[in-house]
Amino acid sequence: MTGRQWLSHPMRPRERVLAALAGRPIDRPAVICPTSIATEALMDQVDAPFPQAHREAELMTRLAETAYTHIGFDSIMPVFSIVQESAALGCEVEWADKTNWPTCTGSLARCADEIRIPDDVLNKPDILCVLESIAELKRRWGDEVAIIGKTMGPWTLGYHVFGTQRFLLMTVDDPDEVKRSLEVLKELTVLFGIAQIEAGADVLTLPDHATGDLVRAAYYRDFLQDIHTELVGRIPCPLILHICGATEDRMPYIRETGFDAFHFDSKNDVRRSLEVMQGKCQLVGNINNPQTLFCATADSVREEVRQALDAGLTMVAPECALPLACPMENLKAIPETIRQWSIERQGAIVEKSN
Ligand SMILES: [Zn+2]
Repeated sequence: MTGRQWLSHPMRPRERVLAALAGRPIDRPAVICPTSIATEALMDQVDAPFPQAHREAELMTRLAETAYTHIGFDSIMPVFSIVQESAALGCEVEWADKTNWPTCTGSLARCADEIRIPDDVLNKPDILCVLESIAELKRRWGDEVAIIGKTMGPWTLGYHVFGTQRFLLMTVDDPDEVKRSLEVLKELTVLFGIAQIEAGADVLTLPDHATGDLVRAAYYRDFLQDIHTELVGRIPCPLILHICGATEDRMPYIRETGFDAFHFDSKNDVRRSLEVMQGKCQLVGNINNPQTLFCATADSVREEVRQALDAGLTMVAPECALPLACPMENLKAIPETIRQWSIERQGAIVEKSN
């Protein structure tokens, strides 16, 4: 452990999350959900299944608050899917079922000029649903728990509008057209983001999937670094960038954008990532989904959480949207381990001072 200062008085979850995001002292590491932690088991417990919970505010709210009421996280995040904006743009969406995530099918545009953000985009049903849910969550939990919203970045919107393969081909064949498209699409990121803040969101996740598996670090620098810096300036609340996969090579660029935090994957080493970020951008993550949370035992989850905490991570989360069939006891093991680890740390301090 580094010489981190811990507060001795207990904080409320919302206060803890906001302090951790700002790099200020906290009483214990925060456990948050920048992306979805909805599971089939939670859907059953509160009778709020997918796909309805993506599209009906009351069900969205009920499922989202289980993060706090059933699992013990410090935050609530109701935007489970990554297609709300794309549906509002007119993309065809397959909303799937309880066991699967919604996806965009087909494509909407062939060039930047064909992308239109409707004047009434904030009144489209799949946008309104999110805004109503955030407002209700704020009414129910606003002083107690951090409410996290989510607005997709222009790179991910590009995948949906053009189709992922075509968009990636365009980055090679016609980079200027990609840049023009990002300029159009980023306005939707800003509009939806600000609307969620006005509805009551404390924090926003901004997923923009320039992932290590799909594009090189130079792509992040050349296509996204400036746009992300601009988005940070225009969206007035703490922002968490989410990019899955191996991203250490692009962290030096992310660090300079001004994002409050980066939601990172277990493919990246915690200590090295903290070093790269130099305290300029906080880190949140990086508990493995497919092998640990989904497949392994709760003991393996505990071990991985402890490793992350010992390495100096102050905000813990599943690395990306949680697999829907994740066992409940594995998910609950994250906040339990953080509490246990913090009690042991305090015990060690008391023993030392005696
Ligand atoms: Zn992800």
